[in-house]
Amino acid sequence: MGRAMSGSAKGWGSRTDAGNPIISDETPKKKAQPTVSKVMGVDADYWNREGPWDERDLGSLLNANKAWAQRMKGQGFFEQSSKGHAPKILWIGCSDARVPANEIIGESPGNVFVHRNIANQVVNTDFNCMSVIQYAVDVLQVKHIIVCGHYDCGGVKAALVNMDHKSPLENWLRNIRNIHQNYFEELASTLSVYIFVNFRGI
Ligand SMILES: [Zn+2]
Repeated sequence: MGRAMSGSAKGWGSRTDAGNPIISDETPKKKAQPTVSKVMGVDADYWNREGPWDERDLGSLLNANKAWAQRMKGQGFFEQSSKGHAPKILWIGCSDARVPANEIIGESPGNVFVHRNIANQVVNTDFNCMSVIQYAVDVLQVKHIIVCGHYDCGGVKAALVNMDHKSPLENWLRNIRNIHQNYFEELASTLSVYIFVNFRGI
């Protein structure tokens, strides 16, 4: 797993507009006890830890990855995956963190070829998505292509409000705006209620 280069502003201190750190006059808090992620070696149970990862310690993710790798190694995953992959499904979904492709259909790593973007769009000028489809069809020879939307999509909601989200996000959302403006009645009357609900941003 690659080393993360960014983190939440929370817990990382803040900066003035001039780029200088803000000096706090608060009494320094007692140094926190080392978490499991800071302990040398790998805790095999870390993968099953309760709660979210420690956002002040990106190393906790690396430790979780080591624990995951150790577990998967025991299942022969790396030996099998080193031979290549032959997924039968191309999944095109939203980047929303709540809809991870493999997990929600119960498939193991190696079984689903995945492309995700904001609001699960397939745009014929998007070379990224077009390349994924080309490779999936021509080389991997997938049997199925799933374009999966989801309830409460923030991308769709953002596209339906009268607000300039600034480039490049606004450019990306424009595709949905155009569809909504030009084809809403047709979509609402001919396609499934799920698409109708999604476009209404419910
Ligand atoms: Zn979404």
